[in-house]
Amino acid sequence: MSTIEGLRARVRGPVIGPGDDGYDEHRTVYNAMHDRRPAVIVRCADAADVIAAVHHARENDLDLAVRGGGHSVPGFGTCTGGVVVDLSPMRYVSVDPVKRTARAGGGATWGDFDHATHGFGLATTGGIISTTGVGGLTLGGGIGYLTRGLGLSIDNLLSADVVTADGRQVTASDYQNEDLFWALRGGGGNFGVVTAFEFELHECDTIVGGPLFYEVDDAEAVLQLYREYIDGAPEQLGCFFAWQIAPPLPFVPEDRVGDLFCAMVTCWNGPLDKAEAVMKPLRDVAEVKAEHVGPMPYPALNGAFDGLVPPGLQHYWKADFVTELSDDAIAAHIEHGMKTPVVNSTMHLYPINGAVHRVGPDETAFGHRDKKFAAVIAGMWPDPADNEANTQWVRDYYAAIHPHSGSDGGYINFMAEDDAHRTEANFGRNYGRLAQVKAAWDPDNLFHLNQNIEPGSR
Ligand SMILES: Cc1cc2nc3c(=O)[nH]c(=O)nc-3n(C[C@H](O)[C@H](O)[C@H](O)COP(=O)(O)OP(=O)(O)OC[C@H]3O[C@@H](n4cnc5c(N)ncnc54)[C@H](O)[C@@H]3O)c2cc1C
Repeated sequence: MSTIEGLRARVRGPVIGPGDDGYDEHRTVYNAMHDRRPAVIVRCADAADVIAAVHHARENDLDLAVRGGGHSVPGFGTCTGGVVVDLSPMRYVSVDPVKRTARAGGGATWGDFDHATHGFGLATTGGIISTTGVGGLTLGGGIGYLTRGLGLSIDNLLSADVVTADGRQVTASDYQNEDLFWALRGGGGNFGVVTAFEFELHECDTIVGGPLFYEVDDAEAVLQLYREYIDGAPEQLGCFFAWQIAPPLPFVPEDRVGDLFCAMVTCWNGPLDKAEAVMKPLRDVAEVKAEHVGPMPYPALNGAFDGLVPPGLQHYWKADFVTELSDDAIAAHIEHGMKTPVVNSTMHLYPINGAVHRVGPDETAFGHRDKKFAAVIAGMWPDPADNEANTQWVRDYYAAIHPHSGSDGGYINFMAEDDAHRTEANFGRNYGRLAQVKAAWDPDNLFHLNQNIEPGSR
């Protein structure tokens, strides 16, 4: 039996229990709905600390939560009564500009990553908010501004160092532990603790991007244009549809602050002088009422919306993959998008075509390669008094669009706590093989605080 004192003697990083300084700070996750009290939080300094924490959880038969950036909406990065492997001290990023690769610690955020790679005019696909963890986002797939041109984050993953359920560290890549590498790319946190990610990098320096705001009365035209345009638009264009209550920012006319708009958020990672022509259809579809589109360093766009989603909000999300955006779906979006409750809440419709479709649905664990969009209704708000009403807004919106999605599953990284019953559909065609890999690498399901795949033989 391993004790907390024994664990302290074995690890370099702080080991924090109830009553210790920093306990409340370090048990807190991004979604303020989760007020959980772990038995111990291990702030891991390195892979050896992770190994010690994994042994401690197993030997004491305790729940094990793994935390990268802490953004999980269901609060998978914490637990009550168990061990939290907090990777946030492991956030180094080192770049090899000759090979065009980067290695990131398991607790790095996309802000850490983009900052380090931007110094070399390079990047890879990450998320749209800089505080999200590289860890959780990548293991679920990874959708962002660069997806259409560069694929999902996992399509750029070259290798991962993994601490497994039996407390060993292995490397997974196309050449070693190939089954594990396959499963890590879309299988979520089911297979071990990734202490280091190695990514391929691509040229991405100054981009032309930012949001275009239109009147909500133009939402039908904007959505109709978007569904056609995104099929053939150059792949260096990332863009997504959003509902957005206008925040008090310099580009918003003062008398429109607080009004609801629909928006296209853009990111052109191609020749700067081609941006205007590429985005012309987005400008011509309806009058642009406010905008903040222009050349900027890629990390600036990645951090541009951080202020809308500070830590400590209440979160309730629902999501679907979408095969095609029908007229009926557009009508449902408009009916419910018009009721967007607060400035932090939104619905985003991300394209997952282009380079994503050039990877086969069996090549990685991310099986929904035939879908055109990933939709997420992201309910986010500051006041717990609004929990019931705003959760209901998300549920009603989802109930209205789901029949038109053409898919049972949604992106695992956008799922809420009460969507565990959808796990099999979320992994889709690859669930059976994932269950086999799970049985091989984590037969006792030590890593179960995630979109959980039960070890199986199917
Ligand atoms: C504000 C916000 C914006 C977002 N934007 C995007 C976006 O643009 N694109 C997108 O694809 N997703 C996005 N997401 C969803 C995001 O991908 C998921 O919430 C993801 O799980 C967050 O990863 P994390 O490391 O921050 O979270 P955590 O809560 O730390 O972890 C989430 C899950 O991943 C596991 N995990 C994390 N790191 C590791 C690791 N190193 N090794 C093993 N398991 C690990 C955890 O155990 C847990 O199960 C966003 C979420 C939020 C809240």
